[in-house]
Amino acid sequence: MKTLFKSIRALLPVGDGFECKICDIAVDGKTIFSISEDAERDGFKPDKTIDGRDKLICAGLVNSHTHSYMSLFRNSADDLMFHDWLFGRIMPMEDRLTPDDIYYGTQLACLEMIKTGTTAFLDMNICRDATTRAITESGLKAAISRGLVGNGRNDESGIRRIEDTLYDMEAYGGNPRLRFMFGPHAVYTTDREYLELIMDKAAQYGLDINVHLSESVKEVEDCKAQHGISPVEYLENIGMFKFHTVAAHCVQLSDKDIEIIAKNKVFVVTNPISNAKLGNGFARIPDMIEKGVNICIGTDSAASNNTLNMFSDLNFICLAHKGATRTAQAVSAQQALKFATENGAAALGFNNTGVLKEGMAADLIVMDMKYPSMQPPNNLVAAMCYSASGYEVESVMVDGEFLMENRIIPHLDEERIYFECEKAMKRIDA
Ligand SMILES: [Zn+2]
Repeated sequence: MKTLFKSIRALLPVGDGFECKICDIAVDGKTIFSISEDAERDGFKPDKTIDGRDKLICAGLVNSHTHSYMSLFRNSADDLMFHDWLFGRIMPMEDRLTPDDIYYGTQLACLEMIKTGTTAFLDMNICRDATTRAITESGLKAAISRGLVGNGRNDESGIRRIEDTLYDMEAYGGNPRLRFMFGPHAVYTTDREYLELIMDKAAQYGLDINVHLSESVKEVEDCKAQHGISPVEYLENIGMFKFHTVAAHCVQLSDKDIEIIAKNKVFVVTNPISNAKLGNGFARIPDMIEKGVNICIGTDSAASNNTLNMFSDLNFICLAHKGATRTAQAVSAQQALKFATENGAAALGFNNTGVLKEGMAADLIVMDMKYPSMQPPNNLVAAMCYSASGYEVESVMVDGEFLMENRIIPHLDEERIYFECEKAMKRIDA
């Protein structure tokens, strides 16, 4: 299939940021074939031409940290501090989840992400099969990690969780839109021996690591009380950062922690809305930018955000850091959009996406410019971060395939998803 986006405004990479140009974007099969003034003059023969007037094209957004099944818990665990939220409210509900609940919760997440312009995401889930099956059916790209909690090398439930990862890899590994990672939950839900077992398996299977790190003051204080060092120092000491490591949150970091993260090229996923909502604070993003850390953006789950709409976090990351540091340049729209596209793709290990460039995967989103939030078209990078809501997205393409075209989503049954999620929550939260 050859698709031509004709004379469309596009946010193209230039230097460290983006510039907006009107151009032809030609997609051949799964790939961006050319970005030029006139693709047909250059010999491109499209099967389908999309008139780009009044549209904007951008690389698909990458949500670098979420727990998709938890979309079931949207608006059901609010105004609680992190530890009360997790141990008092979320975990008891999780105990009552069935694989079907997880499947429909994940589909709800995929539906929301597609509607708001996400093309790839990094997920941490709690069971084998259901999540991966739901994601596969949505057509999205995802790096999937089964959350790993355990104590010691012989912990049966800990071993079973590792096996869940390997099961999904075996069952779904043929899908090129999926990658798999090991997901040690956090330093406070795993002991050293269990983390060493995970690292042994990561080396054996060549998998990357996805971990929660230094999310709250309590996590850091407890780690210091137990090990005498911060969670970042602890993971460095045990050798975890020898692996490609994606660390979510990194809110409570010392200067030394930031040095360690920069030196080891740890990918930091900031979840600015979730961190603020759970009372955890603001990550030191401007300090990490200065040290050259690869920063990405995640929404975290809908139980702590309460959406998986990356436009909300694009907006909030800019505003929060300007406000918190009283510096209007602290995080710019240009930087934020790069965090949410190219940097996220690198963290997930999808090396041919995240940028609108010839030869890259055709993972892109088309925004409808006929919205007050997009007019006048003065600066469309600013529009992405400061004025768009996310629901201006009208089409989403992954590997050259439309997952949403003119707001129609062929692979997901929207009404069924809403029905099943509501039914599940009536039982779970009875
Ligand atoms: Zn998380």
